[in-house]
Amino acid sequence: MDQEFYITTVIDYPIGDPHGGGAFEKIGADVQTRYQRMQGQTTRLLLGSDEHPGRVLLRAKDGGFSLQTYVDQRAQQLQMVWRTLEVEHDHYFRTSSSRHQLGCRHYIEELHRAGLFYKRSHESLYCTGCEEFKRPDDLVAGKCEEHESQYLQPVQSSYFFALSRFKKRLLNLYAERAELIYPKSAQDRVRAWLEMGLEDIPVTRGNVPWGVRVPFDENETIWIWFEALLSYITAVGYGTDAQQLERCWPARIQIVGRDILWYHAVLWPAMLMAIGLEPPKRLQVHGLLTWNGEKLSKTLGNGVSPTQLTDQFGIDALRYYLMRVCPFDQDSDFSLSDFRDRCSRDLTDKLELLYLRTVALCLQHPENDIVEPHSLSAYEVFGTIDLANVIAAIRTGIEEFQYQKVLDTIWKKLLDPAIKYLDSTVEPAISKRRLIEMLRVLAILLKPFMPGTSELLYGTFDHMQGFAGVRLEDCLIPGNENVQLRFTQPVANIRPAVLSRGSETHPDHGFER
Ligand SMILES: [Zn+2]
Repeated sequence: MDQEFYITTVIDYPIGDPHGGGAFEKIGADVQTRYQRMQGQTTRLLLGSDEHPGRVLLRAKDGGFSLQTYVDQRAQQLQMVWRTLEVEHDHYFRTSSSRHQLGCRHYIEELHRAGLFYKRSHESLYCTGCEEFKRPDDLVAGKCEEHESQYLQPVQSSYFFALSRFKKRLLNLYAERAELIYPKSAQDRVRAWLEMGLEDIPVTRGNVPWGVRVPFDENETIWIWFEALLSYITAVGYGTDAQQLERCWPARIQIVGRDILWYHAVLWPAMLMAIGLEPPKRLQVHGLLTWNGEKLSKTLGNGVSPTQLTDQFGIDALRYYLMRVCPFDQDSDFSLSDFRDRCSRDLTDKLELLYLRTVALCLQHPENDIVEPHSLSAYEVFGTIDLANVIAAIRTGIEEFQYQKVLDTIWKKLLDPAIKYLDSTVEPAISKRRLIEMLRVLAILLKPFMPGTSELLYGTFDHMQGFAGVRLEDCLIPGNENVQLRFTQPVANIRPAVLSRGSETHPDHGFER
C-alpha cells in the first residue's frame, strides 16, 4: 500500500480571522507539502477547525446563530483565508464532523479497555478562556493569569488519562529518537519536563453542552485539547477507515507552535502509545511572530489581517516575506515598513526587473537566431556557480525547514548574478536564451514558495516541459533551445501582479503601466 506523505498543522479555533502567526505556520506547511509533491510524494496536508471551544457557544449566542450555523459559516470563512493565501489542501477537517466524533468515542473506548481512563473526584477549576484545568496553586489571587474570574468553572469529578504511566516510555522514545523534535532546543525542553515527572490528568467535564461525549457516560464531555489532538488521526480514518489510517499514519511531519509544545511532545505521544500507534516521524516546532514587538492576537496588530496584506501587496509577496525574513523555528518580529522594504528590494528591484527585461528583450528580438551550436547547460547559464551543489543545498534546506536560508541562497547565488548579467553587453540572441534559462531555473526553485509568480515566470515562455510536472532536478536539464515568448499580449498585461504592487514608487523599468 502506498504511504501518503501526511503533514499536519494545528487546527484553528473558529473565532475571528487567523492572524499572521497562523498564516506563518500554514504557509510554512504548504511550502513543504508543495515541495514534497514536486519531488513525487503523494501528499496530504491537514487543515481544519477545532469547533468545540466554549467561546464558540458565546459567539454563536451573541450573533443570534444556532451553533451549527455559526461553525459552518466560520469554517467556510477560515477555508477561504487559507485558499486566498494559496495554502493547498484537499480536505478541510472539522471536529464537529461525525467522522471525528466517531473516532474520538472509539479512542475513549480503547483507552478505557486498556485501563488508562478512569473516573475520580478532584477539586479543580476550569478556565474556559484558556480551555485548561487549573489547580488552586495555578491561580493568582483566585484568577487565571490571563482571564477574568467569570471564565472559571468549578469541577468536582472527571475521567482521568493515566499519563503518569508514560514517563519512562517517553524518556526512552526521546533518547532513541534524538531527531524526533526540531529544533533540538525544543527536544531538550521536553526532556526537562519529563524528568520533572508526569501526573494523571483530568480529560472530561460534566454538563458541557457542546463537544464530544464519553460513549459510556454521556453526561461527560471530552476536554477540548484531548479531542483536538485526536483530530490528527481521526482526520485520516482512525475509528472509521483503517486502510486510510495505515496509508497516512505515522504522520511524516506535524507542525506546531512552540507555545503548545507540551501538548504535542508529552501528552500526544503518550495518547498514541496508549493505543499502540506510533508517534509522528517528525515534530517540527515553529517560532512565534510579533508585530512591531507585540504579541499577535487575532489580528496582525492594528487590525491588519493576512488577507488585508495580500490585498495590498499580493499573495506571493506575503508568502515570500514570511518565509524569507522569519526563520521557521525561531521567534520573529514583523513590521509593515520592513515588509514594504523587503518586497521592493527583493521582488520589485530584482525578480520583477529580471522578468520584465527578459520579456522586453524577447519582444525586441523575436527572431530565433540562436548563435551557439549547442543548448546551454545549466552550468553555463549561471557562469561559475555549481548549480548541482546549490540545488542539493536547497533541497536539504527545504526538508529541514530552513526556508530563510533557501531563499537567501536563491537570491544571492542565482538571482544576483542574473541581474549582473542583465547589464553585461552580450549578443542579444545569446543573452535572451540565457536569461530565459535563468528565469526557468528560478521559476522551478520558487515553485513551493511563490506558486503564482513561479507559474507566470515559467509559463511566459513556451518550455516543452509542462510546469505541473517539474521537479527541482529539472533545473539541471537544459530547457529547449528554441524557446520563445508565449504571450502576445502587451507587456503591461502580463506583469506579475503579485510583484507589481507596491512598485509604483520605484523607478520605472521602461515599460508602460
Ligand atoms: Zn485562562
